[in-house]
Amino acid sequence: MRLMLRSALVLLVAATAAVAQDGEGVPAGVRYSATRSADGFDMPVGKPDAVGYYRSRGLIVGRHMGDDWNGSAGGNTDLGAPVYATAHGLIIYARDARMGWGKTVIIRHVYWENQRWKYADSFYTHLHQIFVREGQQAKRGQLVGSIGTNRGMYVAHLHFEIRKNLRIGINQGSYRRDLSNYFKPYDFIIARRTLPGGNRRVRVPLDTFRLQARVVDTTGGGSPSRPEKPSGQQRSGGFRIDRYGGETDR
Ligand SMILES: [Zn+2]
Repeated sequence: MRLMLRSALVLLVAATAAVAQDGEGVPAGVRYSATRSADGFDMPVGKPDAVGYYRSRGLIVGRHMGDDWNGSAGGNTDLGAPVYATAHGLIIYARDARMGWGKTVIIRHVYWENQRWKYADSFYTHLHQIFVREGQQAKRGQLVGSIGTNRGMYVAHLHFEIRKNLRIGINQGSYRRDLSNYFKPYDFIIARRTLPGGNRRVRVPLDTFRLQARVVDTTGGGSPSRPEKPSGQQRSGGFRIDRYGGETDR
């Protein structure tokens, strides 16, 4: 019964939303929900412009597929500092991915560009705490977590990615570590601080990646944030989708 209600809710939301063109990496036959389209993207720390933070590392094709953000005061001074949603979107993952990642949030975004709707996933990891849950709608600048060390594995920092390919999820080892699958996060945000077509209700695909990470290829890269061991936990795939209110949809 609960499952039926959940399915009905998903269908209801999907049916009332604007239809987006399928983006890269959307498998056939997935469920759809809806979210608020992005009116622009902000930096995920020191919002909205990363004031008080610096990038200790950027995207290096094949090795490090995102930005590392550290507090300007160095060391673990940024431990527990706020991490914000880069844009409006739907929380599609909020749990401990274990391995080299630890507590992780993934937000699915839709935005209008070049006369079409496009999708992107933002990925926030090594978090100390998670303040959102799967299925929740996130607004641009909303607190989603805090900066962590992944159980002491690293000096506190935020590892932040923006993906083109919606299939990646926490299964980075299964996809080419290049610009066909990932954006350079800093450049992506700088180019999209303000976007047309924001604050509309647009449908977004769900179920595009496995929630259980697979054993990844550990050859060919030295990234300290690369997962090294498979997770020992099996988790259920389903989660509840909040009805998106769409109060600014008209
Ligand atoms: Zn990193």
